Amino acid sequence: MTETMQAVRYLGPKRNFELRAIAIPAPASGQVRVKIAACGVCRTELHLRDGLLDLGRRDFTVGHEVAGRIDAVGENVAASRIGQHVVVYYYEGCGECRYCRDGDEQLCPAPKSQPGFTSDGGYAEYIVVRARNCVPVPAHIPLEQAAPLGCAGSTAVHAGKLARLVPGEWAVIHGFGGVGMATLQYAAACGARTIAIDMGNTKMQAARTMGATAVIDAAETPDVVAEVAAVTGEGADAVFDLVGTAASMQASAAMLRRRGRLVLIGYTSEDFRIHPVQLIVKEITAHGSVGSTLTDLFDAVDLVARGLMTPLIDRTMKLQDFAQALDAVEHQALTGRIVLLP
Ligand SMILES: [Zn+2]
Ligand SMILES: [Zn+2]
Repeated sequence: MTETMQAVRYLGPKRNFELRAIAIPAPASGQVRVKIAACGVCRTELHLRDGLLDLGRRDFTVGHEVAGRIDAVGENVAASRIGQHVVVYYYEGCGECRYCRDGDEQLCPAPKSQPGFTSDGGYAEYIVVRARNCVPVPAHIPLEQAAPLGCAGSTAVHAGKLARLVPGEWAVIHGFGGVGMATLQYAAACGARTIAIDMGNTKMQAARTMGATAVIDAAETPDVVAEVAAVTGEGADAVFDLVGTAASMQASAAMLRRRGRLVLIGYTSEDFRIHPVQLIVKEITAHGSVGSTLTDLFDAVDLVARGLMTPLIDRTMKLQDFAQALDAVEHQALTGRIVLLP
């Protein structure tokens, strides 16, 4: 008889996830099985639940910030990997296209799988993934801290690289959630000066603790754009928008100095509207940033290992309390990730 495990299943858009018992998977050739120790809760799970993100697949386990211990290996994987602490990279590209050849698996038009998006992810007790996708985590990093690197940490590294920050530049982090916090740490590690924008004392305090050069409470600042100009002199060199509302994106673009770089990471159902003149006369670049490369995840782990980034955990919760966790992500001002423990 096949053994079963608890897993939180996506059944389709605009439907609540459901906890179900499914078979514990076995690794095929080139794959490993990870006994999951922790899985972060990302806002993308809300987008899946609400139908904002629909990649066409149904009936799979959600969750893409997965850390744990390799407990079984398939053929063609070294048995020495059993016991290794790992965080999972959640893209498995086709391996053949120009993007995969360049290491940009997040852009692969025909990925083999995306755990948590199109195939079984980490809101479960076990996951099976390609061995190559398991990034080793040094023993001194707790696995519940490693989990958010799988998305929040690696996404921040990827977006930070796209912004090409250099020491002394001003970077605005517009939206101080899990990815925003990691982005601020990455920008600071690059030598940039940082401004965190969000609402409320909890977030402002978290940003100060994390070493933000300046913080702006949008709830108490009538003109956020003018405030950024006052702090920076002319405007920011780079703005990372993690809010993704029409208003936030318009403000983010307006905060830039000439030749500034806008990096869009967060999104909602709202459009980004801008008059071309605003981009043209200031020679502004607007850049989308999606996920990360495998190398970005290796770099995120390395930055944490060297103390240059520290994932912030708001709280840990039991896997079966996933609905309350999603509710908290949707409605509460969190300082860091919620991490589910199976
Ligand atoms: Zn995510
Ligand atoms: Zn590909």
